[in-house]
Amino acid sequence: MESTMMQEKMYINGQWMESNSGEKRKIVNPYNQEVIAIVPEGNRSDAMAAIQAARTSFDNGTWNKFTANERGALLFQTADKIREYRQELAELETLNTGKTLVESLADMDGIADVFQYYAGYADKDGGQIITSPNPDSVSRLVREPVGVCAQITPWNYPLLQASWKLAPALAAGNTIVIKPSEITPLTTIRMAKIFEEVGFPPGVVNVVLGAGAIVGQEMAESNLVDLVSFTGGCITGRKIMQAAAKNFKKISLELGGKNPNIVFADADFETAVDYALNAVFFHAGQVCSAGARLLVQDSIHDRFVRAVIERTKNIRIGNGMNKKTQMGPVISAQHLAKIKNYIKTGLEEGATLALGGGSPDNPELQKGFFIEPTIFTDCHTEMKIVQEESFGPVMTVETFGTEEEAIHLANDSKYGLAGAVWTQDMNRAERVVRKMRMGTVWINDYHPYFPQAPWGGYKQSGIGRELSHVGLDEYTEIKHVYMNTNPKPMKWF
Ligand code: NAD
Repeated sequence: MESTMMQEKMYINGQWMESNSGEKRKIVNPYNQEVIAIVPEGNRSDAMAAIQAARTSFDNGTWNKFTANERGALLFQTADKIREYRQELAELETLNTGKTLVESLADMDGIADVFQYYAGYADKDGGQIITSPNPDSVSRLVREPVGVCAQITPWNYPLLQASWKLAPALAAGNTIVIKPSEITPLTTIRMAKIFEEVGFPPGVVNVVLGAGAIVGQEMAESNLVDLVSFTGGCITGRKIMQAAAKNFKKISLELGGKNPNIVFADADFETAVDYALNAVFFHAGQVCSAGARLLVQDSIHDRFVRAVIERTKNIRIGNGMNKKTQMGPVISAQHLAKIKNYIKTGLEEGATLALGGGSPDNPELQKGFFIEPTIFTDCHTEMKIVQEESFGPVMTVETFGTEEEAIHLANDSKYGLAGAVWTQDMNRAERVVRKMRMGTVWINDYHPYFPQAPWGGYKQSGIGRELSHVGLDEYTEIKHVYMNTNPKPMKWF
């Protein structure tokens, strides 16, 4: 894709719009800070217009006349279009996020799969007959859409996170206002063009752009919104929960993680080393489920860590568009500064900086937001760098002696999103994963996710689940319909 500058708009009620204020925002490529697009910068009034469009579309529009099969058919077509535009969408994602093209292509495959999965689900829930204690009655349960859904997404997986929200919400028959991260809106805007192309009626999906504290806040507060689904950091999650309390809207929060990757001495050494890198350095560590905490059993600790460091030295950092690149930049100057600050904190806390910690000296990378893959050893759970999300390519290494100690360390976190165990003893694997307080646990693997399995966190990693039938349920209300088949006066009064 040419990096000629794009001029984009918001999509409200089936119209492509500038913001009410006329303000604009520059979207930059984190690889070189080149401006790749100019987009409208919305404010509260734009958010209100988008919410009103979604409300009217839900209450009075044509959308509620679509049968479940018809909604499913539109979603199948959407999945097909994502496959058709796979390369273009992936290039756009890489330009906007800096992630490698191979990662963006994998994202697009995952996104098409999510739309296909929920397309298939749209007409599968015909309700349920339940047993009524009264023989002269029929009792049934039906699932109905919640209504207007506000969806707020982060910058690390812009379209992937959006798809986890859009596809189930549409399958269930809701209308949507979605706000992508203000710094990575491009693939979500492109997605709206796909919705328009496949024929979703106006007002069903609205894309509003702008700052979280303004546009996002309005979406979370609005009395016209029935549900807010958010993926992002804990601080924002707390604000959204408070704003949502205004009209007790339903909430779904997918928050952060600081995830343990536990390696026992009997693990397949080479594979565990390989995945230890993949767990944390994938997408430069900007993954909510990144295995940023490596926990290695003491008897293999030194040999294992040496091997991890040697392999990490070979990671090729660069332009995500270049096929040879294995790790791109981080998202922004602000985020780079935050990661560097964590590295400084780690040094102050007494952890040993075993690798990296600075910016690469390659002259080609000086304009981008690059940071070397970094490894801290001699870490323990009291340290801030172990407890808090750096959300960058920073691994902390802890060690343990016994199985109990490994479990204790792994759970010693306010988060509970994901984690992994490496061992060839399946009885041990089973014992350990049962005690891990996390929404996803992997045995002898790291990172796999797919639409059929739910995703979400224990503890402060969130509320609710995305993906799977559970993710669909989040977008439905359940109604009990009771019919008296032999009505007669009751004569109670
Ligand atoms: P963020 O919380 O800063 O922003 C996320 C979104 O919220 C953006 O669209 C932003 O504009 C919006 N926002 C900001 N302030 C708001 C407010 N007051 N009201 C409403 N919306 C507001 O997060 P980020 O930096 O974009 O993303 C990184 C975080 O996301 C990390 O903590 C990461 O772990 C988390 N994350 C979690 C998952 C998961 O599945 N659990 C997935 C991806 C990312």
